[in-house]
Amino acid sequence: MSELRQDPFTDRWVIIAENRVDRPQEFMPRPAQRAALTCPFCRGNEAETPEEVARYGAPGAAPADWQVRVVPNKFPAVRPAAEIEKAAFQTAGPLYPTGTSGLGRRQPASGVHEVIVESPDHVARFSELSDLQIELSFAAYRDRLFALQREPQLTYALVFKNTGVDAGASLEHVHSQLIALPQTPPEVQYELTKAGEHLALHGNPLMADVLAAEVADGRRILIATDAFTVYCPAASRLPFETWIVPRRPAPRFELEAPEMIVEAAHLVRDVVVRFEERLTRPAHNFWIHSAPIGDESGRIHWRIELAPRLATMAGFEFGSGCFINPIAPEVAAKHLQ
Ligand SMILES: [Zn+2]
Repeated sequence: MSELRQDPFTDRWVIIAENRVDRPQEFMPRPAQRAALTCPFCRGNEAETPEEVARYGAPGAAPADWQVRVVPNKFPAVRPAAEIEKAAFQTAGPLYPTGTSGLGRRQPASGVHEVIVESPDHVARFSELSDLQIELSFAAYRDRLFALQREPQLTYALVFKNTGVDAGASLEHVHSQLIALPQTPPEVQYELTKAGEHLALHGNPLMADVLAAEVADGRRILIATDAFTVYCPAASRLPFETWIVPRRPAPRFELEAPEMIVEAAHLVRDVVVRFEERLTRPAHNFWIHSAPIGDESGRIHWRIELAPRLATMAGFEFGSGCFINPIAPEVAAKHLQ
């Protein structure tokens, strides 16, 4: 069974999820699963996944003619509280049974871990999807995030995509994931505090002021539409890191207007295509940074962050939490413009 354990030094939560690796010797890089015959995400293999949560298709299409499916992860890092034996929650408590309090905590890893399968065909990349498939994928992200509001024990959720083995994908077939937790990560708590202080001091959301400063500077802007600004942030951690930010900051992605979500989907594909055409098709990730579930405080505002995987996290990054970025964001933006 998976367990959430809290680090006593940083308050960071770690998911110990032994079920995701059958045996320790399997824990080595593997090529992403390829053969369409055995792919659980291809049309015709629907029975290979856990029972579906939702499916999406063209208006009026037969259910069998699906374009996007949402299924529970077969090897979940966290599982719904209802599926966890009640006795397990009684073991929740201090990290060290013999230690004093204040040395971290442990609890069963309850939560939600879902997979959004973004095409019935065996394609690997978001850039290969049709307009309908990217729009339905983003509608699925919104619907699943929205549905989590009914789960009072969950406080934080992240939708993320790993494309390519180097970006963490273990299955090649194009998909994204959603993980929701009963704990808000300390990095997010920190941003809530920092952005709250900014709001109190200046009367403007932090995201609005940062966006205005990026637009005024102008050197790192890739795309400007009526509704969105796309840019490489001045203090990017990763080379070619790119953010897609609504011009009118809004706290939560799942509450955004449908036409905004459609435009965001197209902008993500636009940026992914730039990564692929100008950077030799690197593995990449994107994730939706959004306010915690139910947060109405107007401190954190949603945005989509993307990054190609060109630099690996190494000793310095793990040891210090600081990143060494070998490409200035101004140079990155010029390359992607
Ligand atoms: Zn497949």
